[in-house]
Amino acid sequence: MVLSNFSSWFDLPLTDQYYNEDHEAWRYALRQFIDREIAPNVDAWEEAGEFPRELYKKAAEIGLLQLGYPEQYGGVPKPDIFFDVVTCQELARIGGGGVHPSLNSHTIGMPPILALGSDEMKSRLVPEVISGEKISALAITEPSGGSDVANLKTTAQREGDHYIVNGSKTYITSGIRADYYTVAVRTGGEGASGISLLLIEKGTPGFTQTPLDKMGWWCSDTATLYFDNCRVPVENLIGTENKGFSGVMINFNSERLNIAAMANGLAMVCMDEAVAWAKERKTFGRRLMEHQVIRHKIAEMAKRILSTQALLEKTAWQMQRGEVPVVELSLLKVQATETMEYCAREAVQIFGGMGFMRGNKVERIYREVRVYAIGGGSEEIMRDLAARQLAL
Ligand SMILES: Cc1cc2nc3c(=O)[nH]c(=O)nc-3n(C[C@H](O)[C@H](O)[C@H](O)COP(=O)(O)OP(=O)(O)OC[C@H]3O[C@@H](n4cnc5c(N)ncnc54)[C@H](O)[C@@H]3O)c2cc1C
Repeated sequence: MVLSNFSSWFDLPLTDQYYNEDHEAWRYALRQFIDREIAPNVDAWEEAGEFPRELYKKAAEIGLLQLGYPEQYGGVPKPDIFFDVVTCQELARIGGGGVHPSLNSHTIGMPPILALGSDEMKSRLVPEVISGEKISALAITEPSGGSDVANLKTTAQREGDHYIVNGSKTYITSGIRADYYTVAVRTGGEGASGISLLLIEKGTPGFTQTPLDKMGWWCSDTATLYFDNCRVPVENLIGTENKGFSGVMINFNSERLNIAAMANGLAMVCMDEAVAWAKERKTFGRRLMEHQVIRHKIAEMAKRILSTQALLEKTAWQMQRGEVPVVELSLLKVQATETMEYCAREAVQIFGGMGFMRGNKVERIYREVRVYAIGGGSEEIMRDLAARQLAL
């Protein structure tokens, strides 16, 4: 990656150490789709607080929803993990907003079903979800807490051919619109060994939802779910009773890599926007870019983005080789969200009053920093996990 004569991170060729012409082709196809279907609408969708449901089917037409799913269910093979990095960073190019978390909620809802679900469940659900007909969500977090997953409190008691589910989940992405919910429940005793996963379908008696308002990701559908003596057929158990915690863990590594890729992509957008503005805007008779203080802010952004991208790609490469680099992945997520935080802060500062105005990318990204730093394992939890792995 050569940065001289910089105009945009997204115009730079992909590093050939990790990427080839297939990644470039996917990047190009995705970019055309995003520029045609999402980017022109994202401001209006954010203000409206939702995006059209047809977008799922349109995303399926270019293979976005199917990437990495088994061909027998209509999926498209994913040759390697760098396709995920490319996908996340192209989606980041939109400049934030709530499209990607809801559009991609199946990427956390479906993997436990793929790994642990029955053949009947997989052959019924997966084709519907990856074709954009139906929406999948993952429901782990509860009002009493999300970080301490093993302590979740929603119960599911066996009664004949049903589980009777009682409790609540919150901050659930696609929480209102989803058709299929992968829900973590307590079927056994305390701790991780008492947790199971259930498939709970929309319309099941005793299952209701209420929408939530948020600081950012406005057009992403986020909700609290309530289960009040909700009767779920035993066939909807995903895998084995009391062995659901492994299904919860399945998502973590890929989710953290994807969050890091998105966060660094959003940092790149902040720098692109700040550079363009600083080249145009004049103060005290000179362009902002000619003031050393501003130039140093931009150089610092570039330094942090470059080092985050290097760690991201190295960690992805380790995962591609079959390693589970827990320390690198945990610290990468922290590094990426701190890079995003710094770049969003400095970009808004460089924009001045304009940075505080709605309808511009840096304002939106600034509001969205925290969800990346909290969701999928917060900065505190990530540091602690890394420290424990290092035997500190
Ligand atoms: C927009 C949005 C979408 C989301 N989508 C989903 C979804 O689809 N499905 C889902 O299941 N969840 C979802 N979440 C939930 C998310 O994963 C949780 O918010 C996250 O896991 C943190 O849980 P919590 O909010 O309950 O915070 P808590 O666990 O209550 O933690 C609060 C604070 O204390 C810190 N903390 C906690 N424990 C420790 C400790 N031991 N040491 C030091 N600090 C600690 C945390 O880092 C955090 O800063 C979403 C959240 C948001 C905001």
